[in-house]
Amino acid sequence: MANLGNPQNTIDVIQKHGFRFQKKFGQNFLIDTHVLDKIVAAAGVTKDDMVLEIGPGIGTMTQYLAESAREVVAVEIDKNLIPILEETLSAYDNVTILNEDILKVDIAKLAEEKNGGKPIKVVANLPYYITTPIIMGLFESGVPLDNITIMVQKEVADRMQEGPGTKDYGALSLAVQYYAKPEIVANVPPNCFIPRPNVGSAVIRLTRYPEPPVKVDDEKKMFALIRASFNQRRKTLVNGLSNAPEVKATKDDVLNALGKMGLSETIRGEALTLEQFAELSNLL
Ligand code: SAM
Repeated sequence: MANLGNPQNTIDVIQKHGFRFQKKFGQNFLIDTHVLDKIVAAAGVTKDDMVLEIGPGIGTMTQYLAESAREVVAVEIDKNLIPILEETLSAYDNVTILNEDILKVDIAKLAEEKNGGKPIKVVANLPYYITTPIIMGLFESGVPLDNITIMVQKEVADRMQEGPGTKDYGALSLAVQYYAKPEIVANVPPNCFIPRPNVGSAVIRLTRYPEPPVKVDDEKKMFALIRASFNQRRKTLVNGLSNAPEVKATKDDVLNALGKMGLSETIRGEALTLEQFAELSNLL
């Protein structure tokens, strides 16, 4: 089968099957062989690996992954793409195509069945409308993970890497940095896709930590605190947290904890590091 990283081959497949792009599924297909090589290299895929690909589209990256991995499971929501994938991937016997919504797939079970519960790699040119739920779902569901190497909107990649004191710092930065080490491996302009997206993109690798970098007694509680702090970004932490129903703390509880941590009573959530959120959660 022709390499779909070549733009003309992608156009030929789309025309042959009369495929119509669906905006609601965030369909922008990669047509740049250098970017494809870079993604697979950044993920460090070897013949030992089982790779989960989210949203294979017409199978462009899937072809690259099938060449490098032991086994690939590709989950695609759009049923119109399934006959195309069956054709473009017919040369590979190590690819399973599932016509499902990734948000409804039991990925931990998949890793158990296909990889004996050993850590898997996730590689994807993500549908941008559900980037955050996909990433959070992967981390929070306890799927054994080696790394996640994904194309996302450039701003979202930046947000995952940011620390306190920047405008992009938020709940996503903290969640990602609790579970993984984020590294941007490539910036990708709109002309590397058909159709062209309206935003710049970036490939980011999230390498799962064996242990989180901070010690926290109750993860759920810490993330509730984090969400409440950034929901009310302009409020002080004391007001934000004592008004949030999901955080069971009074104004005095928060003031006491801030005092013990040596922080100002008027500090805002966006100024706290991950370590400080962990400490605050343990104190409350
Ligand atoms: N991997 C292909 C490529 O790089 O050319 C396509 C990437 S495109 C940005 C995103 C793909 O994800 C589309 O094929 C889209 O149909 C699929 N998709 C969107 N929402 C999905 C979901 N909830 N579950 C699985 N796939 C989804």
